[in-house]
Amino acid sequence: MVKGTTSFGKMSKGKTHIRCPRCGRHSYNVAKGYCTACGYGRSKRMRRYKWQNKKYNRVRIK
Ligand SMILES: [Zn+2]
Repeated sequence: MVKGTTSFGKMSKGKTHIRCPRCGRHSYNVAKGYCTACGYGRSKRMRRYKWQNKKYNRVRIK
């Protein structure tokens, strides 16, 4: 295993998450086909829980 220039090519190999079209976060899992943060592609509604206080698109959803 080398640490230098040759191994840098492996860094961009495959991506797990891409930008989510709904929440804009970098949490859309390509292989699974849904967003880990908002549940886009998994359910119509936003993935949220009552214990969570989270902002989607800079707006807090009550
Ligand atoms: Zn999302």
